[in-house]
Amino acid sequence: MKKTARILVTGGAGFLGSHLCERLVAEGHDVVCLDNFFTGTRANVAHLLSHPRFELFRHDVEHALTMEVDQIFHLACPASPVHYQRNPVRTIRTAVQGTLNLLEVAREAGARMLIASTSEVYGDPAEHPQRESYWGHVNPIGPRACYDEGKRCAETLATSYARQYGVEVRIARIFNTYGPRMHENDGRVVSNFVVQALAGQPLTVFGDGQQTRSFCYVSDLIEGFLRLMASPHGCDPVNLGNPRETSMLELATMVRDMVGSRAGIVHAPLPKDDPVRRNPNIARAQELLGGWTPQVPLERGLEATIAYFRGLNSRNNGAA
Ligand code: NAD
Ligand code: UDP
Repeated sequence: MKKTARILVTGGAGFLGSHLCERLVAEGHDVVCLDNFFTGTRANVAHLLSHPRFELFRHDVEHALTMEVDQIFHLACPASPVHYQRNPVRTIRTAVQGTLNLLEVAREAGARMLIASTSEVYGDPAEHPQRESYWGHVNPIGPRACYDEGKRCAETLATSYARQYGVEVRIARIFNTYGPRMHENDGRVVSNFVVQALAGQPLTVFGDGQQTRSFCYVSDLIEGFLRLMASPHGCDPVNLGNPRETSMLELATMVRDMVGSRAGIVHAPLPKDDPVRRNPNIARAQELLGGWTPQVPLERGLEATIAYFRGLNSRNNGAA
């Protein structure tokens, strides 16, 4: 692999994509950021727009394209349950047709491609913590299926292109990742809690709040992405996430205390098929990716996320 490369990042104007573009530009690569701005924004990459090695390209991955690139990070897909359930058919098209189109780009260009898969491929897991060898427990006709099955099919497509055409693919199974540049109306739990606490509103805990997730700070995830793309290992999926498990009630209490909000916690109905427990086994990532391990503790990551949303509020109020 060349030391500096021409790299396509689909979904590059989204939360993870914008951090990835920033890191790749800083490392001296030429970056093409592709996005249809469904959940991403120009503002997320505004600071990169004048950089000579950064290009922003409006395109929907449902439509075929060709591009001469060395590497592709394929992230384009809504990630929040609220967003991906808004138009489930479109989510499936993005996950399946979009991945097929990008695999064709990789095949024609001889590029290595990393796909952003998800812990949702494990569904509501019967095995805990989840190892990559676990096949999952997904309701194929439930409200989350458009995303879960779409991503499972994307993994199948990627491994099939690797076997049949020799395309070099890498599969990152991402567990809940959070940080600055999550959309304020994203609907995911960390941004919801922070935005609610800063507004002095009660925090909405779904169900009894005993369900768990394991939250990875964005810089740790991006480091994992880069190591996985560079690794010589093949197309076996790799879990990327932080193994510290937290209940939603614990998270709500932490965020409320850190913000210093006096508002309470309200309980709202648990969405259908909401996974009860989620926690990554990261032994494979540690072994294959040079000892990769998340470095940012939840408290520190939440501080940075809270600071980001505070800044966003004051910018919005200043502009009003
Ligand atoms: P995000 O919603 O902020 O980013 C997704 C980006 O993809 C947005 O910029 C959006 O506009 C773009 N997009 C959506 N549909 C598109 C289409 N058809 N064509 C072109 N662009 C399109 O979410 P994110 O958290 O940054 O997630 C990025 C990727 O990582 C997604 O594939 C998601 O499934 C995966 N992932 C994220 C997490 C997480 O916790 N953040 C967890 C598991 C998987
Ligand atoms: N959740 C919550 N309050 C919210 C948003 C989400 O209690 O305002 C819960 C949700 O039910 C789930 C967990 O937080 O159990 C994580 O939800 P999120 O949408 O962030 O991601 P998921 O891991 O479910 O895809």
